[in-house]
Amino acid sequence: MNTRKDEAARVLRNATRRIEQSGSDTPYLDALLLLASAMGLTREQLYARTRDPLEETTVRCFETLVGRRLRGEPIAYILGRQEFYGLSFAVDRRVLVPRPETELLVDVALRLLANRPCARVHDCCTGSGCIGIALAHERPDFFVSLSDISPEALEIARKNADRLLDREIPIVESNFLDRLAAGEAPWRRELSERYGRPFDLITCNPPYLTTAEMQELRGEQALSCTPFPSGPAAAARVPATEPALALDGGRDGLDAVHRVIQTALATMSKNGYILIEAADAQAQRVEQLLQTAGFTETFIERDLSGLRRVIGGAA
Ligand code: GLN
Repeated sequence: MNTRKDEAARVLRNATRRIEQSGSDTPYLDALLLLASAMGLTREQLYARTRDPLEETTVRCFETLVGRRLRGEPIAYILGRQEFYGLSFAVDRRVLVPRPETELLVDVALRLLANRPCARVHDCCTGSGCIGIALAHERPDFFVSLSDISPEALEIARKNADRLLDREIPIVESNFLDRLAAGEAPWRRELSERYGRPFDLITCNPPYLTTAEMQELRGEQALSCTPFPSGPAAAARVPATEPALALDGGRDGLDAVHRVIQTALATMSKNGYILIEAADAQAQRVEQLLQTAGFTETFIERDLSGLRRVIGGAA
């Protein structure tokens, strides 16, 4: 029997190499986060303990996690959490993994509403709830509500809201803004009773990948899990990918954007704002759509990579 224990640094190097070969852009960080999780440590604690010998059970647990990463599963799903705006959000395959560039939308929202106490904010296509919950966390005076078409996503959003906020916020199943704009009871009634007036801000990070981008993504995912084994092991080897519902925006990627813009004005107060995330190549078109729908003072904000990312306008 081999009694020599592997030390963390060696196990880490070996896993980094394998993860790199599988196409990850951040192989060392991936391996580090997975090993820290297997050892029950934070990343910072692990830095100080890379010479530690590892128990066999820890190595086995780590290898299971690395296997999932090698099959293309996002690190956030494996760890079950993702940082966003300084908060740790629970995530799994039912929701999109919050992206750092989406933090820009929160920044812009806070700036626009800096002088509006008790603003009413609705986050549409909320997924994990990251945008709405970050806003509610930053501004305890805001009345924030969340909606998504996916009841599964809303379970995660509810969990995050309960964990991260010290107040309860309304979370409702709705296809885009349909249940707010159409005046449908009881959701509409509950909101107006609770809030007294329409929204000062609608935020939305809709699905905005084009059909071609979706196909490319699916191709990459298929590659990352070939060769497919057959038999009972096969199901366990299918990677957990992000939900198509959260990504697929139709032919030009703007199906969802159209839907949100068409219905938004009916839900908003005068002087209210709308903020939508989109891809750089779509930004100008989204701004035009806002203008055509009757929004004024439209603008486009660039993210830290210089890409046009957030499009906004006033009602
Ligand atoms: N609002 C969530 C996010 O920004 C989910 C977005 C989506 O599912 N398209 O991450």
